[in-house]
Order: sequence, then structure tokens, then C-alpha cells
Amino acid sequence: MKMYISGKWTESPSVTSVVSPYSGQAVDTVPNATLEQIDQALAAAVHGAAAMAKLAAHERSQILNRAADLFALRVEDFARTVSLEVGKPLNEARVEAGRVPDLLRLSAFEGTQLRGETLPVDAQAGVRGKLAYTVRVPCGVVVAITPFNYPLLLVVHKIGPALAAGNAVILKPASATPLSSLKLTEVLLEAGLPEHGLQCITGSGALIGPVLCSDPRVRKISFTGSTEVGESLAKVAGVKKLSLELGSNAPLVVLPDADLQKVAEATAIGGYVNAGQICISTQRVLVHTDVYGDYLDALKPQVEQIKVGDPMAEDTRLSAMISERDAARVENWVQEAVGGGARVVTGGTRDRALFAPTIVADVQADMRISCAELFGPAVAVTPIESVDEAIALANDSLYGLGAGIFTQDIRHAFRFAREVQSGTIQINWTPLWRADLIPYGGFKGSGIGREGPRYAVEGMTETKTVVIHGIE
Ligand code: NAP
Repeated sequence: MKMYISGKWTESPSVTSVVSPYSGQAVDTVPNATLEQIDQALAAAVHGAAAMAKLAAHERSQILNRAADLFALRVEDFARTVSLEVGKPLNEARVEAGRVPDLLRLSAFEGTQLRGETLPVDAQAGVRGKLAYTVRVPCGVVVAITPFNYPLLLVVHKIGPALAAGNAVILKPASATPLSSLKLTEVLLEAGLPEHGLQCITGSGALIGPVLCSDPRVRKISFTGSTEVGESLAKVAGVKKLSLELGSNAPLVVLPDADLQKVAEATAIGGYVNAGQICISTQRVLVHTDVYGDYLDALKPQVEQIKVGDPMAEDTRLSAMISERDAARVENWVQEAVGGGARVVTGGTRDRALFAPTIVADVQADMRISCAELFGPAVAVTPIESVDEAIALANDSLYGLGAGIFTQDIRHAFRFAREVQSGTIQINWTPLWRADLIPYGGFKGSGIGREGPRYAVEGMTETKTVVIHGIE
């Protein structure tokens, strides 16, 4: 496929292959943007920002609603593209693609809700005869950089609100999964987006990212990816608005009064969807010693039931990770934990990029499988003696994106919600839950800012204060 710059579908001197992680076969190629092409994209985005700012809110909303309708006709096609490029089971890709039309419509709506307020400036001693009010205006050029794991949904969480609020966007999708973004660009253009309103450029993030993010023509950076890259972007960004949706090692606490069968079923979803490659995937399960053995006994058959195989097969629930290198890393971390005294309850094996759904028990908090972000299909189970210890361990992390607790005791649930430093808290579910409209983002090393169309629109607009003098 070609990339979209300055109103044209464009090639470049070199290309990157997009490979199916499951089969290892190349499925397409995309251009590697040159420095000159990145500069063209920036220049075009400045024109795009002017064109977008001229559109009335209802016109922006109509474009996004049309895009939603067009997308809805192509959900299956998009799902197949996502399944192919990510290696995720087709049924999961259908869920991802199926959420896109409503997310576009929700973004369209929030873009029509940009409100200011009148300011009672005469409350300050000595001020009279003035009228002051605020308006919300677009930022201008928004750079959106996205990861591989939800290549459609996380892209729409950025470009939907950005366009709805009247910005131009330069989108840089992950190199492993650029095809769905390029197809989405086609849909938005077909829906009537101004030709310079969106640029979709492909190539290495390590090259393109710093050039885009340090450029003074950009006003807002919206990044989703690893904490390491997010930190590097924050260093080069300079004076810009910055949203960072970063990594995590989400904890789940299981107290003795929980329904263990329900917890086991939920863990077998929360730790393994998309082969665990989700920022709020359940990674650390902290289980009270009173029910530790019973929980593992309930979880093992649930995990062993997960059907592993070809992502395109209708009954597959877990398939390849994004690359063989990542699967080898997960294998290595599991073996390292076993070397330190942990034990594999089930799984632990690897076939190229496919790592079997795995439970590791007796994990110590300082093992990499617990304290770093695993991003793979394994959960690390650790015994705890008390709610105090559970909360301390949940908070003993560089991250704070999602956390969950299973308990019937409302005092423990509220205490957990109050004391755990995390962007979302799930009571009686695992950390893996999101509705697209909720504020979504992290504490600590998990990031800055919140997504969800209402909150993203807020982050992609600026407040301007207008004061009229001489009113008698
Ligand atoms: P990644 O390696 O950080 O890459 C994310 C994006 O950044 C890609 O488009 C990548 O381009 C680009 N990039 C790489 N180096 C860059 C640089 N120096 N400057 C600017 N951009 C650069 O992350 P990933 O492996 O794709 O995704 C997994 C990570 O994303 C995990 O840590 C996960 O927790 C996090 N994540 C967070 C959320 C959230 O909402 N908090 C959601 C999903 C994922 P290339 O692909 O070309 O390298």
C-alpha cells in the first residue's frame, strides 16, 4: 500500500514488509517515509489545520458520521486486515472493528459540544465595565503515534476526537500493523474529510517520531505505546500538549470471599485476550493464602480450554504474538521466574511466535514477570496474607493503568478503589475492561492525560479567553 501525504497516495524509495505473525509470510509492503516526505506531511498538515478550523461543528460531525456509516459496511474486511497484521483471532478482530463506527459517532458528537463560559471578572476589586468569556479552539496540528496491539481502535481513539474538534492529524501507525490505518484513511477521505486534514505516514517510529514530535508546527502529541518510547518523546517534545498512554503490569486481587469459579473464568479472559498484548491485561494475580490452592485449581482447566491456533479459524481464542522475538522474551521471563523458585502450572511452551497460555505460580514481586510489563499470554500468581499486603503490592509498581479486585466485602472494595493508584479500578472483574466513553489513562509511568472521546477532545483543544473592555 502507499502512504497518504499532502493529498496524494505516495510511494518512497524503500519499503517495509508487513508480515503475518502467525504464518511468517509477507502480506504487503508500506513505504518508509523519507525526511523530505515527513517535512511535506508537516507542511500539508498546517494547511489542513486551517481548512479544518474553517469547518463548522456540524460539518465536522457530518464527515465523521458518514465515515462511521461507510466503515460499518466494511467491518468484516477491516477485521480480516487486523487479524492478518496483528495475528489476533478473527473473532477478537471483529469485536475491535465492530466498535469503530460507534466510536466515530461518539467523537462526532463530542466535537459538537465545545463549550466556554462567561467569567465574572467584576468580582475582582476595581474591575467594572468588562465582559469576559472563554471559547475552546482546536490545537492545530496533532501528531498521533499508535501501537500494534489494537491498530484500529486506538487509532480511532485519537483521530476521531482530533478531527471532531477541528484539528489536522498526522498519523504514524506501528510498523507491524499499518494496513488498517491506511484503509481507515481511505474511508475518512471518502466521507469528505478535507484532503489535507489527515496525513498517514509509514516507516520507522524511531526515525519519524522524533522528527514529528520536535517540530514547532505541531501543537499536540497523542502517543500510545511503551513507557520507554513515551519518555523519549517527552524529552524531545518541547512546549507542546502531550498525552501519553503507556505500559502497565495490571494487578488483580482475589480475597477469600470471592466466587473462585467466576474469578477463574474472568482471569482466563483478562490475562489472555490478544495473547496478553493489552496494556490492561491481567498480569499479576495476588491471591489470599486461604484460597490460593483452590484458585489455581479453578484457573488451570479454564486456561487449558483456550483454543490455540490459526487466527483466521473461527474457534481460535489465542494465536501468535506480534513477533517471534517477543514470544522468546516471554519464554525467557517465565524460565527466569522458574529459575528463581516459581512454578509453571500450565503452558510455558513456545512454537515460533506462538506462546502457550501460561500460569506461573509462587511468583515473587521482584521477578521480571511481575515487576516489568510482560505483554504476553501468561499470568503471574503470588500469595498474599492480607488486604494491606494486597494494596501495598498492587501499588508497588512503576505503573498505574488498571487494577481489579474480587471480593464480596464492600469495605475492602471501597478501600481498594480509594488507595490503589490506578487510572481505572474494576470491582469484581479483572483489570481488562473498557467502554469507549470512559476516561481512560494512567497514573505514574502509565502516562499522562485521558482518552475517551469527551476527554480526548478536551485535550485536543485549547481555552481562549476573550475580554471586551469599555462596556458601561
Ligand atoms: P512501542 O514500541 O512503544 O511503539 C509504539 C509506536 O511508537 C509505534 O508506532 C512505533 O513505531 C513508535 N515509535 C517507536 N520508537 C519511537 C520513537 N523513538 N519516537 C517516536 N515513536 C516511536 O509500543 P508497541 O510495542 O507498539 O506497543 C506496546 C506498548 O504499548 C506496551 O507498552 C503497551 O502497554 C502500550 N499500550 C498502551 C496503551 C494505553 O492505553 N495505555 C494501549 C495499548 C498499548 P514503529 O512501530 O515503527 O517502531
